[in-house]
Amino acid sequence: MTLPRPRVAILGGGPGGYEAALVAAQLGAEVTVIDEDGLGGACVLTDCVPSKTLIESSSTMTSLGRAASLGLELADGANPVVEADAPALNARIKALAAAQSNDIAEHVAAEGVRVIRARGRLAGPHVIEAAGTRVEADTVLIATGASPRALPDGVPDGERILTCRQLYDLAELPAELIVVGSGVTGAEFASAYQALGSQVTLVSSRERVLPHEDKDAAVVTEAVFRRRGMNVLGRSRAEAVHRKGDGVLVTLADGRQVAGSHCLLTVGMAPSTAGLGLAEAGVSLDSRGFVEVDRVSRTSVPGVYAAGDCTGVLMLASVAAMQGRIAMWHALGEAVQPIRLTHVASTIFTDPEIASVGVSQAAVDRGEVPARAVKLPLATNPRAKMGGFRDGFVKVFARPGTGMVLGGVIVAPRASELILPLSIAIDRSLTVDDIAHTFSVYPSLSGSVTEAARTVMEFAPDAIA
Ligand SMILES: Cc1cc2nc3c(=O)[nH]c(=O)nc-3n(C[C@H](O)[C@H](O)[C@H](O)COP(=O)(O)OP(=O)(O)OC[C@H]3O[C@@H](n4cnc5c(N)ncnc54)[C@H](O)[C@@H]3O)c2cc1C
Repeated sequence: MTLPRPRVAILGGGPGGYEAALVAAQLGAEVTVIDEDGLGGACVLTDCVPSKTLIESSSTMTSLGRAASLGLELADGANPVVEADAPALNARIKALAAAQSNDIAEHVAAEGVRVIRARGRLAGPHVIEAAGTRVEADTVLIATGASPRALPDGVPDGERILTCRQLYDLAELPAELIVVGSGVTGAEFASAYQALGSQVTLVSSRERVLPHEDKDAAVVTEAVFRRRGMNVLGRSRAEAVHRKGDGVLVTLADGRQVAGSHCLLTVGMAPSTAGLGLAEAGVSLDSRGFVEVDRVSRTSVPGVYAAGDCTGVLMLASVAAMQGRIAMWHALGEAVQPIRLTHVASTIFTDPEIASVGVSQAAVDRGEVPARAVKLPLATNPRAKMGGFRDGFVKVFARPGTGMVLGGVIVAPRASELILPLSIAIDRSLTVDDIAHTFSVYPSLSGSVTEAARTVMEFAPDAIA
């Protein structure tokens, strides 16, 4: 007698949804994904992939700007100019995102997953309704993501007042871009558009940019922004954004006004959980509308799981994907380890990038985690000198006594690639001694990681705060 295949229905095809679908299919389940926009979700179509593609172009622009300092002269005249071609840039971004979504759709189809392209809603704990179809399932996963917030008095119009999802339809590069919000998304776009040639004003309600990130890293970033000509307005809360003539006018809480050609709102994300029948099915939401989940992605209703931005756990594609996989491992009876958020590596794709993993400086300073810390400036690294990189550092936290690696922050070009050894060290409980005895290439930026590990070892345990 063959047992019936478990049925899994997934609402939302972003990383939380499609990665879960792949796991469930590989475990033999009959899987249906319901998504209204396309596989890959907002991550691939409008958020992460498009923004990082834009940033690849802006980084190249920054590299070209360093050409003269590296002894190079751009050919063709005394004053060669490299300009962003906004239509070409945006066309490339949209084509790349669409291709990535297609690749995911093909992969998912090859695993035998059924995809319904429609808006769906829960019609009970074990049923999703979409475009007149009822999908019944033993396990349901909610992975509907989140959407950009607006200001009460600043409504995006897609032309001059924009969310981060509306940038890629612009026919020209914003001449004077006002970015409202200096969190990760605001800082990334401010950095990118400044490099591409926009005059950027960054409106930050806090004392400094990136208020929730490592303070040393944020200080370096803000200094670079200002040196490159960005107008950074600290302690300035934007209250209203309105169209004025051909441009926009941003009104700050203290009455000051900032004029520009375009305004980009990066004031946070709201969960896409309204009108999905969640509360009616008994699924608990918190006061902000995020689905409440435990560390194996269970909601308050047996058989209903949730993953990704709609849970508000940590709004990263990697976390969404892991929550989705964990949900399926758990639901389908596999051994599963609850998600460990202290092991999540993340990057802010400003120029230079800021990558971090493990404990934070703030937690160490508050005395929550006893740790020894070492911070090496990037400027002393020979490879950094060769490339003309002077901004940044490598910081490593280690447990006093054992020397176990607890965390790290890297501010450098491609810091997103350099953080991996520290991530592995944390995940595998390695010590700074292990890293210090590992060969790094000479010369390389990663040489600063092994050097930082050696430096932590040199300090007497009580020599560092
Ligand atoms: C500008 C920006 C840049 C980012 N950059 C990075 C980065 O560099 N690295 C990183 O790790 N993270 C990044 N993120 C975060 C990352 O994009 C999210 O964490 C990730 O998209 C979350 O995945 P998800 O599966 O929860 O949802 P999403 O990717 O939002 O996908 C949700 C899907 O569900 C669908 N859906 C919603 N409701 C319904 C419904 N009722 N019926 C059918 N379908 C529905 C949507 O259409 C969408 O396709 C960025 C975010 C932003 C805004």
